[in-house]
Amino acid sequence: MSSSTDKFSATMRDGLAHLARRLRFAMEEGSIWLDEQRMILLHTAALGALRKELVDTLGMERARGLFMRMGFHSGMRDAELAKKLRPGDSDFGLLEIGPCLHTIEGVVRVTPVKVDIDIAAGIYDGEFLWEDSFEGDVHRQLFGIVDAPACWMQIGYATGYTSALMGRTILYREVECIACGFDHCRIVGKPLEAWEDGAEVLALYQPDPVIETILELQSEVEHLRALQRSTDKPADLVGCSPEFRAAWGLLQRAAGSSVTVLLLGETGVGKERFAQALHGVSARADKPFIAVNCAAIPDELIEAELFGVEKGAFTGAHQSRQGRFERAHGGTLFLDELGELSASAQSKLLRVLQEGEVERVGGTEPRKVDVRLVAATNVDLAEAVKQGTFRKDLYYRLNVYPVTIPPLRERLDDIRLLAERFVARYGARHGKKIVGITDRALAELRRYDWPGNVRELENVIERGVILASNGGPDHLFLPTSAPPAMDTAPRLGVRGTLPELREAAVHGLLDHMAEQQLALGDVETVLMEAAMQRANGNMSQAARLLGITRPQLAYRWKMRGIRG
Ligand SMILES: [Zn+2]
Repeated sequence: MSSSTDKFSATMRDGLAHLARRLRFAMEEGSIWLDEQRMILLHTAALGALRKELVDTLGMERARGLFMRMGFHSGMRDAELAKKLRPGDSDFGLLEIGPCLHTIEGVVRVTPVKVDIDIAAGIYDGEFLWEDSFEGDVHRQLFGIVDAPACWMQIGYATGYTSALMGRTILYREVECIACGFDHCRIVGKPLEAWEDGAEVLALYQPDPVIETILELQSEVEHLRALQRSTDKPADLVGCSPEFRAAWGLLQRAAGSSVTVLLLGETGVGKERFAQALHGVSARADKPFIAVNCAAIPDELIEAELFGVEKGAFTGAHQSRQGRFERAHGGTLFLDELGELSASAQSKLLRVLQEGEVERVGGTEPRKVDVRLVAATNVDLAEAVKQGTFRKDLYYRLNVYPVTIPPLRERLDDIRLLAERFVARYGARHGKKIVGITDRALAELRRYDWPGNVRELENVIERGVILASNGGPDHLFLPTSAPPAMDTAPRLGVRGTLPELREAAVHGLLDHMAEQQLALGDVETVLMEAAMQRANGNMSQAARLLGITRPQLAYRWKMRGIRG
């Protein structure tokens, strides 16, 4: 150990004592203070659970960056505190507060190995031993011995602290770590330029919003879907009612031109499907159909999503990206829930419609786009204009060709077709063979009001399909009627759900009983015998057929003929 580190160790001892006096437990106020900064005591197990969850959901690399940044911020905070506590102190004195704070905060015990610091000259070279690192310990408990060092938060802290103190970027690297099986951790800190892969390490300290990646993936999926759609049959619309035909007829007439179409109607009426169908019968059918739900994208990101973004336009914009307008070039762009657009996005959209060009966020070069816009909303735009939340000029631009999609309760004649379509779709998806829908179930479907429209019908049918016993016929539970408990009803599949069978077969059976002078017990015996026969004598299986338990059947089987 050099004499400079001896000196450093000595000042550290003083520093620890000095800092310990600044630590105050204000128990009655429910707070802990380190000088003027509020601190908290956390269970390391809780931090461990958080670490586990972050690693599981974000992956090791992202979780690592997150912890490094968290440590970085607290390191910078502590450097500020150090400058305040010891104004005019030596460079050594200022630096040692970092390790002292880390020690006092219970994170790790720090021993200097080599310290060469001259703040004014910008010189820094440091090496420290970390003993009993809480983070390395927690990581090892969670993941066992690993290949890469794991004291992420602490490395971030050292980097943040020293960088803030030096006024230049000092990067630390952990060269040994208890999480990798060493007895202690060892860290080395040098200026950014002194590291070969400095830029790479530094990038980990840049915020990395997951939302960006999610949106990117979303666009990609959207793009792939658009490609797939163009090979689909054009119109996937179902309906035969006059109301449906009127709306679809209007849309078909718009197909020949590139007129902007405004789709109106309640939520769940299937506006996107109509937009897709319009695209499918237009000359743009082999080009992309891009759908955007404006309400699903945060305000601050919507412009980048729609119009694209140039690299560096804002924090997190690491690379240039096309917007949905550019992606939809030559095809159709469907903007759902347009009433949700921010004022600034509205004015940009208006410009695109007027000029036929988009300008990426942070860009200066306009790009020509040829896109048919189909906008949709369930808010009253005219009213929104009156309220001042929607631009009047944009409204006029959009309202050139308005088409209202009728709510489901106004197109009752379409319910059968829609329901059959959904039964087929979800029957296939859930591996159920559903024969069809009875007239009585259909009558019930028609009686209901469907505030959630086609989407609600679709959900109800899917639920019905899932609950239906295999091979069983309809088993539709309407939103108004509570589904029967799972353990009783589905066993027989038809119990109380097959009115035709009940009425026809039950009356037939009654007639038969009267003719043959059979008692109820005889019928039970006949049914049990039939079930046993069908189950090849397997009593459990026969019991299942009859909707009773095996012991129940066994008892009745034994008792048959004895009673009545
Ligand atoms: Zn470590």
